[in-house]
Amino acid sequence: MHAEPLLRDVFGFDCFRPGQEEIVRAVAEGKNTLAIMPTGGGKSLCFQLPALLREGVTVVISPLIALMRDQVRGLREAGVEAGALTSGNTEEETAAVWEALEAGRMKLLYMAPERLASAGAQRMLARIGVSLIAVDEAHCVSQWGHDFRPDYLRIGELRRQLGVPLAAFTATADAETRAEIVEKLFDGVAPESFLRGFDRPNLHLAFAVKDQPRRQILAFAAARKGQSGIVYCGTRAKTESLSAALRDAGHSACHYHGGMEADERRDVERRFSQEDGLIVVATVAFGMGIDKPDIRWVAHADLPKSIEAYYQEIGRAGRDGAPAETLTLFGQDDIRFRRQQIDEGLAPDERKAADHGRLNALLGLAEALDCRRRALLGYFGESPETCGRCDLCDKPPEVFDATTPVRMALSAALRTGEYFGAGHLIDILLGNETEKVRQRGHDGLPTFGVGKELSKGQWQAVFRQIMGRDLVRPDPSRHGALRMTEKARPILRGEAEITLRRDTVKLAKADRPVVK
Ligand code: ADP
Ligand code: ZN
Repeated sequence: MHAEPLLRDVFGFDCFRPGQEEIVRAVAEGKNTLAIMPTGGGKSLCFQLPALLREGVTVVISPLIALMRDQVRGLREAGVEAGALTSGNTEEETAAVWEALEAGRMKLLYMAPERLASAGAQRMLARIGVSLIAVDEAHCVSQWGHDFRPDYLRIGELRRQLGVPLAAFTATADAETRAEIVEKLFDGVAPESFLRGFDRPNLHLAFAVKDQPRRQILAFAAARKGQSGIVYCGTRAKTESLSAALRDAGHSACHYHGGMEADERRDVERRFSQEDGLIVVATVAFGMGIDKPDIRWVAHADLPKSIEAYYQEIGRAGRDGAPAETLTLFGQDDIRFRRQQIDEGLAPDERKAADHGRLNALLGLAEALDCRRRALLGYFGESPETCGRCDLCDKPPEVFDATTPVRMALSAALRTGEYFGAGHLIDILLGNETEKVRQRGHDGLPTFGVGKELSKGQWQAVFRQIMGRDLVRPDPSRHGALRMTEKARPILRGEAEITLRRDTVKLAKADRPVVK
């Protein structure tokens, strides 16, 4: 299966979301499948991608016309031949769909269930080479549910007539509905089912602000000596230096990145799967195809690029179900680096905006104020209880009302034309008469020296947190000058307050008294 290139090039995602990969594989292989995924979990990809991997047409049955039209538009923009037959179509639209079908170009045909009632549609489906039926909102087949759609009862018959695999999706997980779906859509023959929630309860989750990153990773590894682990780094050079540092500290460690020869990489993969207690220090190139069940820990020496990437990378630990630890380091430079990476990429603006959103979700998780697992799973559509197995449940963070310092920081940015990075703004807030400050006349600003209550390190922590909350963003076309986002305006106008984590502010080496 060559799903990864399509995932990237057609859909614009770097990696699968939890659960998607297994479902995509089963559907692409032509198995009858039933997948229960929370809303927002990303189920459309689970039939759209297999549709591209299979010959012929995939028919998608969905009761939601607006959603069908959205998906068709999205697919067409990505260069995929898709069309919809719904009551909302104009005649021209319907004619164009027919034409594409007849010409054998169509890959995904969306249909409203009531279309199945027409004999013409049934004949057409029998003729055009359907290779897969995907059913969205499959619980609509349940006569006892409040979303019952009588036309859904025709789907089972269609499957029998066409003799093709069927993939059913729903967010409704109760056992009766499931049984009814199996009965009505699959004639009672159990399909391959995917029901696992996204939680990996044996993984302990933790983030830490980068303070002395190398020492932090060495300490984390030292506490787990002799266990197999992975350290993910943002650059190839760092994988080499950090694995050397781990070896110096007496660990068995090696590095891995995409710049190495194929046989060198295979060698590392082989050692990792056979040896006990090897640490692999790697870029994200290490992972796909690693199937070692007893990885006891995963650490990130640098912030991953998105919340999906984070989930996938920590998810390599503890596949055997036994407890495993994770630690993710992050700092202001990571945030700047990841933003820049997105901005400087070649993707269209819409995709860049989505990538910023996925990075924001990760930053929100990094600076979360309570249970980290709840924040993580919340992003994937689940709403679990507080977990008791994350660093924030272990030790709730102290928070403080940071409205005043944040307003000071924002107004320093604004009064200097949103033209400078955090370093210069901090000099202004602290009243440091640097040459740049004097040259620009910034010592005459009303914000000059108003921030002496905080140390430089503490201001850096404040700036990192407001970047993490996406109140300010570095502008790549101005060397990372900080620009305010819409989210900052209510705070600046005095209409909203903001709470920040005090621990990470305090931790910044306080050369002056900590915030009160
Ligand atoms: P639902 O399960 O509710 O149908 P969708 O298929 O609409 O969810 O997906 C929800 C969101 O998740 C969409 O914005 C989609 O772009 C995003 N998404 C889906 N798969 C991925 C992925 N692998 N990586 C990142 N984002 C994804
Ligand atoms: Zn928790």
